Amino acid sequence: MTTTNRPGTDLPQAAATVAPAKVNATLVVGPTREADGRHELVSVMQSVTLHDDVAIRPRRDGDELPPRPGETEELDPELLCVLPAGTPTEPAAGVVEDPSGDLVRCPGVRGENLALTALRRFRAATGWDAGPLTIEIAKRIPVAAGMAGGSADAGAVLRLAAHLSGRGDAVLLQELAAGLGADVPHQLQPGLALATGAGERLVRSTGILPGAALVLPSSAQLSTAAVYRRCDELDSPRTATALAGWEDRVAIALGGPAPPSLPDALCVNDLEAAALDLCPSIADALDRLRGVGAQRSMVCGSGPTTIGWFASADAARAAATALGEEAGAIVAVPTGGAAVSSILELPA
Ligand code: ATP
Repeated sequence: MTTTNRPGTDLPQAAATVAPAKVNATLVVGPTREADGRHELVSVMQSVTLHDDVAIRPRRDGDELPPRPGETEELDPELLCVLPAGTPTEPAAGVVEDPSGDLVRCPGVRGENLALTALRRFRAATGWDAGPLTIEIAKRIPVAAGMAGGSADAGAVLRLAAHLSGRGDAVLLQELAAGLGADVPHQLQPGLALATGAGERLVRSTGILPGAALVLPSSAQLSTAAVYRRCDELDSPRTATALAGWEDRVAIALGGPAPPSLPDALCVNDLEAAALDLCPSIADALDRLRGVGAQRSMVCGSGPTTIGWFASADAARAAATALGEEAGAIVAVPTGGAAVSSILELPA
């Protein structure tokens, strides 16, 4: 493929990458920090093959019009082959314009888009002036589902902006990512990681969790902030000492011989009780996953999506068939490394 470079530079004008969803194998919630009111946590984050596609290119006439259904899925067929495609969500108007002239096209997401915020902050921090840009997002990760879809898109934008501009070192990207949200730093280098602090302190693992997750989306949506609030009301957060104990145990489990696997006892989600309280239908979803053979079923992040863990992708696929097509279950295989970090340069 021939790419067009930015005039007077050897930098490309357009590029795309995948933005993978994440699942939490462990999500232990501790006290809130005095400095910023965010919860301390110990979290094992694993990127999976379910993903959005994100591209940045110079803005063209007509970009301000709402995307036609299916339009962005045709954005870049080559990129869609990097990982198996998931199920597209129902398209809805999803064009947001920044006063600077940058815009995002993201069917299925209304209102402010974290991907556009990421680009705005990157430009402000680096002084990158590239003329108005368009971010195209082919959305497949369910929205407000606890799978870090917005964070994945924001992380992808930071990676793409750094590539296209030749600006922004790792420290700055990390800082910008942490400012955008607890799940964004992980998305700068998707894969398997132990996250502590409020999610910004990451120890990356070169391994990938074995087995496969079967994701059961819900028609409900839960706000992450509301789930944390309910968790506080239910008096669930752990003490700082308990949290430190969890960090040690998880670090040992992930640091073990490859491939890393988490003992059953470390597969917990402290937000589950709060999510169940706010969205009681989650209990049925957990039962259904167990009913089709999940070794373990749990709420994904802050929910309401649920996931079942299976020994293999084949076992997860068989369970998806047993649930029936109308359940909309998605097989999500743990992934990491070059498959999810690589950037494809595109013709402008
Ligand atoms: P997390 O697990 O990171 O807390 P989530 O997976 O539960 O988040 P998201 O899909 O990231 O939820 O959406 C949370 C909110 O962010 C939604 O209300 C949505 O409108 C908004 N949002 C902003 N930008 C995006 C985006 N690019 N993709 C999805 N949602 C976005």
